[in-house]
Formats: sequence, C-alpha cells, structure tokens
Amino acid sequence: MPGCLFCKIIRKELKSNIEYEDETLIAIHDINPQAPVHLLFIPKKHVAQISTMSSEDSVLAGRLLYKVKEIAEKRGWQHYRLVFNNGAEAGQSVFHIHLHLLSGRRMQWPPG
Ligand code: 5GP
Ligand code: ZN
Repeated sequence: MPGCLFCKIIRKELKSNIEYEDETLIAIHDINPQAPVHLLFIPKKHVAQISTMSSEDSVLAGRLLYKVKEIAEKRGWQHYRLVFNNGAEAGQSVFHIHLHLLSGRRMQWPPG
C-alpha cells in the first residue's frame, strides 16, 4: 500500500530499529515506547485492521503470536502485555495491522 507508514518501513524506505525480520513479518521497536520494551510485530502483507482481515489472514495473526513467544523466550521476558488496537476509537493510529508487545514494567488493569 503506497502511502502506508508500515509498508514504507517494511520496504526500508523509512528507517526503523529492527528486532527481527523474516519473509512474512517484521518486529521493530516503537518510536514512542510506552514501556522499557515496546515492540511492534507487523505482518508484511498490508491488512488495515483486525476487523478487515480475511480468513487467510488468520495464518499471519498466528505467526505474529508465535514469533512473540519465541522472541520473548530468547530475551527472557516472562511478563508482557500484547495489544491490538482496532479502530481509531480503540487507539489505532496506523492502519496496517500490528501487535504491540509491552514489557519491562508492571502493567495496570483496566488499561484505559
Ligand atoms: P497504534 O496506535 O496504531 O496501535 O500503534 C501505532 C504505533 O506506531 C504507535 O505506538 C506509534 O508510536 C508507532 N509509530 C508511529 N510512527 C512510527 C515510526 O515511524 N516508527 C516506529 N518504529 N514506530 C512508529
Ligand atoms: Zn501497510
């Protein structure tokens, strides 16, 4: 998607701090971290949001989750919060699906 910020990051037209990358996804450090660890797990396929996923996209979502598990295990992060914001009122600002991983501090509930 030409004007999409995360597609530009995936194509390396914009710089980012990459934690992990393979043929299907990229994990980058959030530019405005909300915790000592704040990664964004982004599928390389442009899908705007959870509510516009097709059934084939469920594979991508599963891959994101399993990659979170592998990276957290490698880094020794035992406690973390995973967040998908779906829609502007839920806090979504970039309309290309991404999973937030927050770690390194105690989390509050409800999240607000
Ligand atoms: P959302 O609000 O859509 O759930 O999350 C978008 C996230 O992308 C925000 O946490 C925001 O800080 C992050 N972000 C926005 N622009 C950039 C950027 O250019 N680079 C990186 N690494 N993160 C970004
Ligand atoms: Zn995109």
